[in-house]
Amino acid sequence: MRAHRTLLIRLPSGVCNVDYINRLMALTNLAYRGYEVWIPDLPKEVQYQLYSFKNFKGSLVFGAKPKGWFARAWVPLKTFRIYQDDSKKGDPNAPIVLDFKSGVIRLRKVCKNEPRYVVEVPMPKWVVGRISEGGDIKFARVGLKDNEPYLALTAEREVEPYQPSGYILAVDVNSWKYGIAWGLVHSRQLVSFKQEKPNLNELLTLYYQAVKRERKHGALMRIGLHRTMQGKRLRRQVKARRSKIYRITRDKAYFLASKLVRKALKYKALLIIDDVIEESRRELLEEKLPPDVIKLLMSNLRRFVHQLEALAQWYGVPYKFERLYSTVCPVCGSKLVQEDDRVMVCGNCGFKAPRDMVPMYWALKLQSRQG
Ligand SMILES: [Zn+2]
Repeated sequence: MRAHRTLLIRLPSGVCNVDYINRLMALTNLAYRGYEVWIPDLPKEVQYQLYSFKNFKGSLVFGAKPKGWFARAWVPLKTFRIYQDDSKKGDPNAPIVLDFKSGVIRLRKVCKNEPRYVVEVPMPKWVVGRISEGGDIKFARVGLKDNEPYLALTAEREVEPYQPSGYILAVDVNSWKYGIAWGLVHSRQLVSFKQEKPNLNELLTLYYQAVKRERKHGALMRIGLHRTMQGKRLRRQVKARRSKIYRITRDKAYFLASKLVRKALKYKALLIIDDVIEESRRELLEEKLPPDVIKLLMSNLRRFVHQLEALAQWYGVPYKFERLYSTVCPVCGSKLVQEDDRVMVCGNCGFKAPRDMVPMYWALKLQSRQG
């Protein structure tokens, strides 16, 4: 199986011409749609290699298919790799040079419409790490995100998932309020169980601080004073708090994905993911939380699932998506009733467990079925 991982590197704006990249992206969109257009004042080498990518259409190399005629498609580029031991791979004329000897990435002709224009960026540790794991970076893409130039490097690796040892690592994705619950199951027993979440107090404090400042800003706006020093300061403070909230949940998501994949690797476990995020959202709605707070408690959970899947693929951890119910009895299949303190009880057979533990009983059931 071929696994991929992608890294985005922000290119120094100023050395990269946004208009030029924009034009290249428009051209890529056309190439995507099967049109071969040769633009005289754009470098032939870049255009030529764009059309040589035709056969990869729809593959990861091209990235996501642009949605409309004017959607901007990232420009696929070939790479030339120079390794520490002086060995080389790829096309020596490729626009992107990954020079591991000098520890730099060189971008040729893709940052400015000048024949000999080269931009050098330091080689990220991430790239060296992926290479040392047996990956290779055959392709790169250049494009704009929020009108800033970026280089996307896609590492590729041939990997066979290992044979599971009998351990199951079950991951139940909830909202951040109750956290991501995971349990390690072996020989019909729950070996370990944990609920992981960021510091909720910190998140909510930041949230209410932002809301308070937004209200103040709104009041200033109504009397036309929002462009004053005070108004601008409030806006800055709101923005800072909002992005900090985002960063906290994003970092937690990445941290957890990597921790769980490492755990699966350690036990050679089969990874089972329940990512029914909608159910968690409904639970929060039933608790009558404000929509904004729900959004906050759900932020970056999709990202967590994507990262978990990407890492599992990359490291050859066998995984599957499976429903691990928290409201259905794992013994008899009846609907569970929620009592105080989120304890779930089965009226039919008497099964009783904390809500976040119920999915682990489903994982146990799965394991016994697999022997
Ligand atoms: Zn039951």
